[in-house]
Amino acid sequence: MGERTYLGMERRDFIKTGLITTVAPTLLLANIETIKRARNPIVISTWNHGVKANEEAMKVLFSKGSALDAVEAGVKISEADPNIQSVGLGGRPDKDGHVTLDACIMDSKGNAGSVAYLMDIKHPVSVARKVMELTNHVMLVGQGAKSFAITHGFKEENLLTEESRTAWLKWKKKLGKKDDLGPNDDHDTISLLAQDSVGNLAGACTTSGLAYKIPGRVGDSPIIGAGLYVDNEIGAAGATGRGEEVIKTTGSFLVVELMRQGYTPQDACREALGRIIRRHGGNPGFQVAYIALREDGEIGAAAIRKGFKYALSSGNKNKLHSVKGIIN
Ligand code: ASP
Repeated sequence: MGERTYLGMERRDFIKTGLITTVAPTLLLANIETIKRARNPIVISTWNHGVKANEEAMKVLFSKGSALDAVEAGVKISEADPNIQSVGLGGRPDKDGHVTLDACIMDSKGNAGSVAYLMDIKHPVSVARKVMELTNHVMLVGQGAKSFAITHGFKEENLLTEESRTAWLKWKKKLGKKDDLGPNDDHDTISLLAQDSVGNLAGACTTSGLAYKIPGRVGDSPIIGAGLYVDNEIGAAGATGRGEEVIKTTGSFLVVELMRQGYTPQDACREALGRIIRRHGGNPGFQVAYIALREDGEIGAAAIRKGFKYALSSGNKNKLHSVKGIIN
């Protein structure tokens, strides 16, 4: 479905045009390697730590790796970094001090895998990929996701670093009775989208979620269509910020669908945020941001509030860009 191989055409177009019947099968096979639709690899991701993640993803793409391998390798850099307190190891815990991770991944064929409320496993994105590749499910959560991970060779480890623990204890001391969502509405989830040299798209999204969340809370990041969506014919989108708002508007799917209707990636991100802004009387007191990558390599990024940054890599460049908020 939608995977690019021959001359940028899809298999069904080939059949439609009759080429499949007129070209000798051996000739066709020989040509597959040489006539794939060429693209300059491109990677876009959220936040400052996206720079290092992009660097890793680009290494994969420059060595002719797939977009899928690139997105996984990229976000694993953030997951493994104990100094990034919003993803993987060192992520801020929930209210009770447990680090619970959410992640998902999508490939160019529309396959998807996801894990939510996963504990003690450093690379949820890789577990999500295993769910996608080894099962006919899309999403595993909690203990089931952890058992699945361990069965497939993932190591169980403590993800709560001393730094995150100290910050949590400090937060707990100040906790008031009404602090349900947690005052630290941090937004440093990594969503990363990539296009490889044959024009295929993939995306990954991984997070420890909102800091000090209610135990059991799952955000948008592992939900296909909310935190991430990839349609190889149109483009890909990823989200960060207040996950509940992204879920309620099916954010990333919406961005892709708007691109399908002809919106530029930039306008698609802005319009999807506009839906949230309008629901909140024009002035929401939280942040949501989207990034988008269209199938022709055009990108977009927008945020409700100031402070959002995205990392963009193409050619030899890998740069962090600041985004002006729609509201301030
Ligand atoms: N979207 C994430 C969530 O709601 C938070 C973030 O982007 O940091 O879990």
